[in-house]
Amino acid sequence: MKPAAVNLHDLTREELRVLAVRWGFSSVHAARLWRYAYVDGVGDWARMPELPAKFRARAEAELALALLPVALDTHSSDGFTRKFLLSLTDDRRIETVLMRYTGRVTACISSQAGCAMGCVFCATGQMGFARHLTPGEIVAQAVHVDRALRAENGGERLRNLVLMGMGEPLHNYDAVMKAVDIVCDSAGLSLGTKKITLSTVGVIPGIIRLADEARPIHLAVSLHGATQEERAALVPVARKWPLADLMDACRYYIEKQQRRIFYEWTLIEGKNDAAENAHAVGRLLHGQEAQVNLIPLNPTAGYGGEPTGREAARRFQHILAEYGLPCTVRQRRGIDIAAGCGQLAVTRA
Ligand code: SAH
Ligand code: SF4
Repeated sequence: MKPAAVNLHDLTREELRVLAVRWGFSSVHAARLWRYAYVDGVGDWARMPELPAKFRARAEAELALALLPVALDTHSSDGFTRKFLLSLTDDRRIETVLMRYTGRVTACISSQAGCAMGCVFCATGQMGFARHLTPGEIVAQAVHVDRALRAENGGERLRNLVLMGMGEPLHNYDAVMKAVDIVCDSAGLSLGTKKITLSTVGVIPGIIRLADEARPIHLAVSLHGATQEERAALVPVARKWPLADLMDACRYYIEKQQRRIFYEWTLIEGKNDAAENAHAVGRLLHGQEAQVNLIPLNPTAGYGGEPTGREAARRFQHILAEYGLPCTVRQRRGIDIAAGCGQLAVTRA
């Protein structure tokens, strides 16, 4: 049988409806198929008895329903994190992480195979860019975690999503936003936009677009350096999108969306964790509706730095508080299975 031309997860509910009508079927059947896939969590045509046989045969011939096959499923020793290595149709691979915090489960999903941005301390950046993911490949990761949760915990559903896996989401803007719209569809997975956070390295045109569009997800911006020179040493694309322009874009976003920005700061011992660095962040962000998330550096093969210790991280946090900036230190999760921030990499992208 020739492979189906269209991936169901690439379609919005409306696109699926239009397709079914074009085939000559009632939109009711399209709606039922959508519910099977996203609400009932069914990934097998044979388990969709409420679809009329003729519609099912046509859909089966034309639509791919399968999620991304799991090449590896790893659990962290503390039981809080589970990492899936998923295969794409062209044999490339990506990683998706399920993270448990007190009272909350979050899926961390990828937007690209590899990444073109080259941040020096990031394993994904170290592997280079392979390709953008399609909307369906992004959606499939959320559906996969949702189904894994149901299987683990009898009925638990996915509620929180972070676009902080492999890749730079604003470098793949259209596919990412279509995927966001699909997972937020109220007749499907029905995630709340307020439960979704997108993290960017600072792609200014993407930030402006997000500010101008009505899609109220949370925005996190990776900062890591509070002067142009220090930031560019860690984040090479800062040369293309300089810090001063990035701050203008962030202020525009806050003003337009009336929403705060989360800034991420990877704490590297002796590099960007001194009191003077914290004061520089404080001065840079003072007066903005902002919150800072500190992430002690996770180890990667291509970067030799060490994470900042607990005491120094706390000092950094206290200095930011003096500038009226709320600040948290991110809980470390899944380091033993290389599922922590910036550790996602596959040997063959
Ligand atoms: N491309 C996006 C989102 C993915 S990375 C971005 O860069 O924002 C998610 C976060 O992990 C970013 O803040 C990134 O800077 C951080 N990160 C990358 N490598 C890391 C490492 N080795 N240790 C700790 N944080 C890291
Ligand atoms: Fe890409 Fe983000 Fe890693 Fe930088 S930190 S290389 S932008 S995934």
